Amino acid sequence: RSKRRGRAQITVYSTEIAQEMKRATQIEQALRNAIISDAVDVHFQPIVRIRDGVVAGFEALARWRDADLGFVSPAVFVPLAEERGFIDALSDTLLRKAAEAALSWPRELFLSFNLSSAQLMDPGTSSNILSTLSHVGLDPRRVELEITETAVMTSADTAHRIISELRAKGVRISLDDFGTGQSSLGRLRDFTFDKVKIDRAFISRITSDRPSEHIVRAIIAMCQGLDLEVVAEGIEEPADVEMLRALGCGMGQGYHYGRPVDGAATLRYLQDHYHDFMAIERI
Ligand code: C2E
Ligand code: MG
Ligand code: MG
Ligand code: MG
Repeated sequence: RSKRRGRAQITVYSTEIAQEMKRATQIEQALRNAIISDAVDVHFQPIVRIRDGVVAGFEALARWRDADLGFVSPAVFVPLAEERGFIDALSDTLLRKAAEAALSWPRELFLSFNLSSAQLMDPGTSSNILSTLSHVGLDPRRVELEITETAVMTSADTAHRIISELRAKGVRISLDDFGTGQSSLGRLRDFTFDKVKIDRAFISRITSDRPSEHIVRAIIAMCQGLDLEVVAEGIEEPADVEMLRALGCGMGQGYHYGRPVDGAATLRYLQDHYHDFMAIERI
């Protein structure tokens, strides 16, 4: 009896797996077409100086809405593109669009762009990125690349080389989602980063949970000692800002300052929030 039930369960699971694989292939096809037809878009979220709330740069975040599938999260389609071997094509399109948008921002603002872990295993990544930037005409010194701890771990030697080639051209490197995943403080000693982004998981509880507050305090102190800039991710409440300001956190990002919005809305954001921005003169 139990044997039969076991078999029935296996059948149910394999049907679910088959359906999931079918959906993944459906997303893959649609995404490949979207890249070709230029339908994948990029939005921008402000990263601000906590001290005075002045915007310092924007993080580019991939956005894709398919006619049949609806909105698909980058947390779904980026890993899929990695698995199915076309992350380079996707990332290239996104970087080109993001860099083009950044050309109409004030020069002192940076563009932050996410690299996937698969890209850090590919020795061609640094020259791909630099050639896209030079093609668009965006100064590499205005660009930051966000990478995760897991990414630098998987293929440390290649990642090392990619990072130093990019840094040699003035690109800055941020460690994204710090404190989660395969955290190792040794990573901060072995690799050359410019910035650390504290994961939203800590910031969202910073005013209600003492351990989170202490962890954030310790990360900020450590980064000051290591001469790394710090960004707090996922700031949603004014109380978070007060706390982070008191802890001496340099930069912040989150819905409190602004949600990710498209290129046109980003320019409007700058007109409203950036006193030196003379967009009108450019038109
Ligand atoms: P991430 O790089 O850690 O990006 C931050 C995520 O947190 C974004 O989600 C952003 O919309 C969200 N977020 C920002 N502020 C808040 C807040 O105050 N509250 C909450 N609840 N969420 C906030 P998104 O856009 O869905 O992106 C998810 C992940 O997908 C990113 O995490 C990144 O790992 C990846 N991703 C997005 N765009 C790209 C891309 O162009 N290339 C690569 N390789 N990965 C990307
Ligand atoms: Mg990021
Ligand atoms: Mg992050
Ligand atoms: Mg994340």
